[in-house]
Amino acid sequence: HAKRLGRNTLCFFDPSMQAALDLRSTLETELRQALKGGQLRLFFQPQVDVARQVIGVEALLRWQHPQRGLVPPGDFIPLAEENGLILPIGLWVLDSACALLKAWQKDPLLRDLPIAVNVSARQFRQPDFVAQVQHILETHATHPGRLKLELTESLVLEDVEDSIAKMASIKALGVRFAMDDFGTGYSSLSYLATLPLDQLKIDQSFVRNLPGKKNDETIARTIITMAQGLAMEVIAEGVETEVQRTFLEAHGCVTYQGYLFSPPLPLEALYEFLRRSNAVAGQGR
Ligand code: C2E
Ligand code: MG
Ligand code: MG
Ligand code: MG
Repeated sequence: HAKRLGRNTLCFFDPSMQAALDLRSTLETELRQALKGGQLRLFFQPQVDVARQVIGVEALLRWQHPQRGLVPPGDFIPLAEENGLILPIGLWVLDSACALLKAWQKDPLLRDLPIAVNVSARQFRQPDFVAQVQHILETHATHPGRLKLELTESLVLEDVEDSIAKMASIKALGVRFAMDDFGTGYSSLSYLATLPLDQLKIDQSFVRNLPGKKNDETIARTIITMAQGLAMEVIAEGVETEVQRTFLEAHGCVTYQGYLFSPPLPLEALYEFLRRSNAVAGQGR
């Protein structure tokens, strides 16, 4: 390759760069096959209230790779964002979640359970994103109020007008919105109040140092107060200890997600978890 660039072109090619490029294109090819070949999996992390009752779940993507094993989203979503594969992947996630919500309507243990789905920036910026969501809801005749879309501050800030317009249209369908990783971006109170949000998710980076680290205590308390003032729900992410949970409860945050309760689970394990934690009235459980 280097020769074709001509005499006066600086060439930075070295073997380690070539190896990195090879790995990238291998991963890209494999990810394409993963999507077609059914290697993508949704795991579900329970979201609980103070009584440890499951009040919702977040769908978290995994790649069941034939050689590499279970690959976490951080290892392939950035690449998928770059090469555009996030678009069909994102549709697959939404479609799977809506199909599940539909199936759950027959089961008393599952029928009230909302699913939160993470939406990537590139997916949300598609001009027909609203139509895609509507189409998927209609295809499965899914109760839209059980679907929650998680957006990040940086996604919203990228294009505030477009975000507000799309959120309003999707909100009008009955779908709900959570602001993911809240506190890590640069939201200002003035536009936060104009967004049709239902929930703020306190980012795990603040929860990690509760209680004790004064700055993070202040941030957590401020987010809780802000959510209450804006009539939004608030949930803490990455809750790992009872001390963290107690601090959060004392300051008015009564819903939690984290390893203290459960890691993200495959579907069968989620059902087992629910049978143990959520008794259904009149079923003798
Ligand atoms: P997120 O949406 O903020 O999800 C929370 C992450 O924290 C998950 O990582 C979860 O497994 C992890 N977590 C949960 N409880 C705890 C805890 O107590 N302690 C710690 N240290 N971590 C905890 P995961 O599953 O690796 O996902 C990472 C990120 O990948 C997600 O962050 C989300 O931004 C993205 N992601 C996951 N699934 C999808 C998807 O379907 N589509 C898109 N676009 N992004 C996704
Ligand atoms: Mg999330
Ligand atoms: Mg998060
Ligand atoms: Mg995150």
